[in-house]
Amino acid sequence: MKYILALDQGTTSSRAILFDERGRVAGKAYQEFRQIYPRAGWVEHDPKDILGSQVGVISEALVRAGARLSDILAVGISNQRETTLVWDAKTGEPIYNAIVWQCRRTADVCDALKSDGLDKLIYQKTGLVADAYFSATKIQWILDNVPGARQRARAGELRFGTVDTFLLYNLSGGRIYATDYTNAARTMLFNIHTLKWDDDLLALFDIPRSMLPEVYPSGYGYGKTDAAFLGRELDICSVAGDQQAALFGHLCLDAGDIKNTYGTGCFLLMNTGKEAVKSRNGLITSLAAGLNSSPDYVLEGSVFVGGAVVQWLRDELRVIDTAAQSEELALKVPSSGGVYVVPAFTGLGAPYWDARARGAVVGITRGTRREHIVRAALESIAYQVSDLVNAMQRDSSAPVGRLMVDGGASANDFLMSFQADILNCSVVRPSVVETTALGAAYLAGLTCGMWEDVGRLKEFNGVDRVFEPSVSPAERARLLSGWHTAVEAARIG
Ligand code: ADP
Repeated sequence: MKYILALDQGTTSSRAILFDERGRVAGKAYQEFRQIYPRAGWVEHDPKDILGSQVGVISEALVRAGARLSDILAVGISNQRETTLVWDAKTGEPIYNAIVWQCRRTADVCDALKSDGLDKLIYQKTGLVADAYFSATKIQWILDNVPGARQRARAGELRFGTVDTFLLYNLSGGRIYATDYTNAARTMLFNIHTLKWDDDLLALFDIPRSMLPEVYPSGYGYGKTDAAFLGRELDICSVAGDQQAALFGHLCLDAGDIKNTYGTGCFLLMNTGKEAVKSRNGLITSLAAGLNSSPDYVLEGSVFVGGAVVQWLRDELRVIDTAAQSEELALKVPSSGGVYVVPAFTGLGAPYWDARARGAVVGITRGTRREHIVRAALESIAYQVSDLVNAMQRDSSAPVGRLMVDGGASANDFLMSFQADILNCSVVRPSVVETTALGAAYLAGLTCGMWEDVGRLKEFNGVDRVFEPSVSPAERARLLSGWHTAVEAARIG
């Protein structure tokens, strides 16, 4: 048996998964690593932890699969996006910790960009809203705050990379300095229309071109790992940001195809084909993972509080003991009894963009029980996703045929079936739920020739369960109208 080794470098853990020739998980291993919070709102990773945990899990995955290094045809990488590293070009030594995508330290800089009206230029070129999530202001922060960094950058002595680039660089012993379109598209420095680093933006952030990697398609022969690492050279044949890797893993490869990941937050991506759709609803326009140098575009939106509302039920309200118990309780009542939970704990994202909104529980009566609250909390995840899907449909005018799902909370059958009811479309949960790693493996396997084409992948992309809508149009309209009234209450609050 031959395998593809997928390295899935996430925000809280590094995973290694071996996929066999039929796209099945043959062995996997994962390791969590340290989150560093130097100040309120700041988040960092130690670069050594990122690399160490990622390399560390490879041999365990091999052992679990009963495979040898010589059985691996190619390596694929998927990674947490936007997280920013800067290192010395000669020694490879990082000059600062990795600044994680969640880190808000440059929020003021982004507010200033907005008040100067530069957000329009940024959106036009990059498809992104001017926000601290993206790499540009993080690079700027490192150059401004590490002594001597700005001069060294100008002298061509420093290299910037997102996590994929950092892994490629280190795994290859410094020989590969590259990234892919999906990661480049999240830096706020890459023009998604010309597919090049943008000189105007580089000037705006005072970042020299010499510190940026070459950009290639996600599926591409990036080069070989250094034998010193694993005792053997391996071909690295794909790189993709986690959400775009998941979209590929679901084989959402045609315009209108859409996936949602139900994690702590939710990430919804829609493939919009060759058209870079401009959003009127505050969604992001970005690049999809693909195998050639004309990538498809995507629309992306996120729900800040997704599965996290279930954690809130468990850890703060303490009305459930485990996340899975939420389903059991929700099913004990025939409906939420008119109760709506709006988990706007940190404001509301797309399509509302209301940072002042706060959480609300509305519609409570003397008969309201914890089962109603739990059910309403789960329903709130589906309503928020539905608001995003509708915004995408308005922006792109592409009809949504079905929603592909993954992530921790997609295990909840009640939630999935309510999602189908509210969206009025099929919700499809695949049997391989490691969709991010699967996407990286598909891209690598197609690139190295393990699979001849996407048609082959369709044969073994198995379905665990399809949820079909089962409520009447009138009932759906009634539920949605109640939700939107509740959202208005949260916005006043
Ligand atoms: P992340 O990658 O963001 O850490 P995961 O994909 O691991 O997230 O999903 C974890 C989230 O899913 C948690 O917020 C948890 O509350 C939620 N979750 C896990 N299992 C269930 C379940 N059976 N029902 C509802 N929510 C769940």
